[in-house]
Amino acid sequence: MAVTNIVVVGAGVVGLTTALVLSRHDNFNVTVVAKHMPGDYDIEYASPWAGANSMPVGKPGSNLQKFETATWKELDRICREVPEAGLHCQETFIYGRKKDENTATGDWFKELVKEDAWFRDLMPNFRVLPRSELPPYCTTGTAFTSVCINPAIHLPWLAGQCLKNGVTIIRGTLTHISQAPSFHTTGHAAVTLNCTGLLARTLGGVLDTTVYPGRGQTVLVRNTPGAMLTVSGTDDGAGEVTYIMQRAAGGGTVLGGCMQPDNWDSQPDPNLALRIMQRAVELCPALVPKTGKVTELSVIRHGVGLRPMRKGGIRVEKERIGGAWVVHNYGHAGYGYQSGFGSAWEAEKLVLGIVKDKAKL
Ligand code: FAD
Repeated sequence: MAVTNIVVVGAGVVGLTTALVLSRHDNFNVTVVAKHMPGDYDIEYASPWAGANSMPVGKPGSNLQKFETATWKELDRICREVPEAGLHCQETFIYGRKKDENTATGDWFKELVKEDAWFRDLMPNFRVLPRSELPPYCTTGTAFTSVCINPAIHLPWLAGQCLKNGVTIIRGTLTHISQAPSFHTTGHAAVTLNCTGLLARTLGGVLDTTVYPGRGQTVLVRNTPGAMLTVSGTDDGAGEVTYIMQRAAGGGTVLGGCMQPDNWDSQPDPNLALRIMQRAVELCPALVPKTGKVTELSVIRHGVGLRPMRKGGIRVEKERIGGAWVVHNYGHAGYGYQSGFGSAWEAEKLVLGIVKDKAKL
C-alpha cells in the first residue's frame, strides 16, 4: 500500500481534529506543524480561549449547518463514551430579546434564538420555555442539552489521540504555505492542510484578506452556575452579549462576552470585564448564592481571544499552490469546536480525492 505524506499546519482545535481524522487512515503519514501548541495562551491562538460549547448558529442550507449537525453527533458520542476528552453535558438556556433582532449580535444568534429552531430535533431535550420562565426583558426562550468542552483538557486529548495514531507533532513557524512539506518527518509531502485560523490572513501563498478578528473577552471564575445560559444582546453596548458556560472537569466557568469585529486588542478592558460579571450575576444569581454580588465571584483569569472570522464563512477547499496540493480548512469564527469534526471530514474527502487522482496518473 502506497503511503501518502501529509502536513497539517496548525494545532488549534481545527488542525488537531483534522490531523486526528486523517491519522485514522493507515496509508497516511501525518505531521502537524504549528507556532502555537496546546498549553500555550497567546492572542494569535484562539482555541484555548473558547467556552466552549455547541450552540448551533448556521443558517439553514449552509455548510456551517451541515458541519454543526455532523459535529454534534460526534461530540455527543465523545461526551458519553470518552470521559478523558474533557466534555460534559449541561442544560442550556437561550434567551432572545426582540430589540436585538437587527443588531450584529442578533444576527449572530438569529438561528439560535428561534423557538422553532432547525436543530430542535437534533439537540436533546429541546423545549420552548413558557413566558413565566424568561428573564423579564426577554421575549423568546428555549432550553436543550448541550456539551461544555474544557479546552485545557480537550486540546491535549486531541494531540494525544494523534500521537497514539502515529502523528508527529512539531513546533515551527511558516512564512509561506509552500514551506509546509519541508516540515514533514520525511522532508516532503503530497498534501498540505492549511488550518491556520486567523493567521491565514498573513500567511504567504494564502493572504486571505476576508479573514478578520472577532474579539471576545471573558472572565473565568471558580463559581458554579449549574447550567449554561445565553442572552442575544445587552443594553450596555453594541457587540456585547451575555453567556455563562461551566467547563467540564473543574475547568471553571466562562463568563462572556462580546463580539468586536476588526478589534486586535489583546488586553482585557477592565470596564468591560465589570459589565460582563455584573450581567452574569443578574442573569444567574446561583453563581453568587451568599451575597448576590459581583464581589462573590472568584476570578481565575481574565481572557481575550480573537475568533477567526471569514466573510464567506468557513473555507474548506483544495487549491494548487506552487505546484503542490493545499486543502484549506480555516475561518471557523465563533464555532470551531461545534463545527470542527464536520469540516475535518469535508477536508478528509478532498484529501482522499487528491490521493485517488494521483493513483490514476
Ligand atoms: P487557532 O486555535 O487559532 O489555531 C491556529 C493554529 O495555526 C495555531 O496552532 C497556530 O500556531 C497555527 N498557525 C497559524 N499560522 C501559522 C504559521 N504561519 N506557521 C505555523 N503555525 C501557524 N467555538 C465554539 O465552537 N464554541 C464556543 O463556545 C466558542 N467560544 C468562543 C469564545 C471565545 C472568547 C473565542 C475567542 C472563541 C470561541 N469559539 C468557540 C471559537 C473557537 O475558539 C475558534 O473557532 C477555534 O478555536 C478556531 O480554531 P483554529 O484551529 O482554526 O484556530
